[in-house]
Amino acid sequence: THFGYKTVDADKKADLVADVFHSVAAKYDIMNDVMSFGVHRFWKRFTIETAAARPGMKVLDLAGGTGDLTAKFSRLVGSKGSVTLADINDSMLKVGRDKLRDKGIIGNVSYVQANAESLPFPDNHFDIITIAFGLRNVTDKDAALRSMQRVLKPGGKLLILEFSKPKHNLMQKVYDLYSFKVIPQMGKLITNDADSYEYLAESIRMHPDQDTLKNMMIDAGLEQVDYTNLTDGVVALHRGYKF
Ligand code: SAM
Repeated sequence: THFGYKTVDADKKADLVADVFHSVAAKYDIMNDVMSFGVHRFWKRFTIETAAARPGMKVLDLAGGTGDLTAKFSRLVGSKGSVTLADINDSMLKVGRDKLRDKGIIGNVSYVQANAESLPFPDNHFDIITIAFGLRNVTDKDAALRSMQRVLKPGGKLLILEFSKPKHNLMQKVYDLYSFKVIPQMGKLITNDADSYEYLAESIRMHPDQDTLKNMMIDAGLEQVDYTNLTDGVVALHRGYKF
């Protein structure tokens, strides 16, 4: 398709990603529930448990979009802690901010428009950084990982929740069929925008597998890097530390 990464240069990819998320922002949450059969809630809960945020901590929810993780972190870090929801896309940020404010989640949350490749935060700043279903949309993933490593405190933890490579062939087949045929059709029905969901399916297929991403994290300076497969590796949670 014309969304293939190999055929577009970096600027065009960034423009495409911007178009996709401006287009899907309003219906992003419902599409997530429909397309993952609600399972994204389980993946995110596992991420929160692994993060083990405590009162007073500073958390960065990068590519935070509509704020599912931010909402949970906000309660865990309490009034002495803080959560920064950073996203490159102002439509997603606005939907996220409105949703969280409607839920009464205010006080310790701030919203920042930022590119993951060059984070506008000081060195050694955050106790926890999460990026959920965000890294695959980033053009220069190595630059983004280095930037995350820089703003992480010594002793801090980076968690990357992302689509990955299913372990079993059958799961891979079911999943390919689902993501290439079913997801764009559903996207078309619900949002009248098949192209955006075709991009999403493509971006999932192009994303580095478990061990490739693990090595990219090590190259960016993270330590004790490891991952957990979820749903047979359809999704993986990678974690790494800065010491
Ligand atoms: N984390 C949320 C979740 O799990 O529901 C949102 C995930 S959404 C699939 C991906 C998000 O990544 C979008 O909000 C998009 O704007 C953001 N994004 C894409 N490229 C980015 C970049 N270079 N820097 C920061 N955010 C980016």
